[in-house]
Amino acid sequence: MAKDLLGADYYIVESSRAYWSISQYKRFRECEERAVAELAEEWTEDRDSTPLLVGNYVHSYFESPEAHEIFKFENGSTMIAKTGATKCHLKKDFKVAEVMINALKTDKQFAEYYIGEKEVSVTGVINGIDFKGKIDCLNIEGGYFVDIKTTKSQIDDLAWSDEFRTKMRWFEVYGYVLQMATYKELLYQKYGKEFIPIIYAVTKESIPDTRAVVFQSDEKLKYELAELSTIISKLDAVKKGISEAILCKHCNYCKSHGLTDKVEIY
Ligand SMILES: [Zn+2]
Repeated sequence: MAKDLLGADYYIVESSRAYWSISQYKRFRECEERAVAELAEEWTEDRDSTPLLVGNYVHSYFESPEAHEIFKFENGSTMIAKTGATKCHLKKDFKVAEVMINALKTDKQFAEYYIGEKEVSVTGVINGIDFKGKIDCLNIEGGYFVDIKTTKSQIDDLAWSDEFRTKMRWFEVYGYVLQMATYKELLYQKYGKEFIPIIYAVTKESIPDTRAVVFQSDEKLKYELAELSTIISKLDAVKKGISEAILCKHCNYCKSHGLTDKVEIY
């Protein structure tokens, strides 16, 4: 059966081989060698999947009741604590997710914004290279789209950027501005009009806060997109095996393959 790389099979490796996504771009920026090994299925990062599942738990709730039920059915065993104080009940992280869902549910403004098609795949070309994206909520008539982002602490908080060696807004540091800029561009290519990106932030605080961060100005979006366009050709050559991948020399892949610096002249 043919694979549905932009639908049911969006998250399989064949889809990542065929299209670039912003999460893949971020993996390549961190360590090209590891990203290539991941695409060849020679390496899987042994990382805690809980934060991703918590995010998906919240997302599926606002996608549709069916999507949320399917998510709970498929991930039930991972969400229930097997030991400790919460044994046989939802793990602490998923209780936080419930609190975040409730915060969005009781935010009247969120209900007004979060209207449109859910989980929309979009594709297009950036500097001649095929990209894909998946938008949480797309409102075509309204000319805007919304992505829900969960964050640890206060919405106004800053986070450290290794790239810029300074503190910046968390959504800048985590590449969400780039993600918004890319979705906006892909939508422009498809619909021929400018969409306004909105990040709907919800915090994991004991009393969560919610806020729509509306990207009214193009300046930062254009900057991010220009940087992506410049770098992507080089990374695509690495992905295709035309150019040699660069090692980061400090990730788990580099460490476990003996690819770190073994002598330092101090
Ligand atoms: Zn590395």
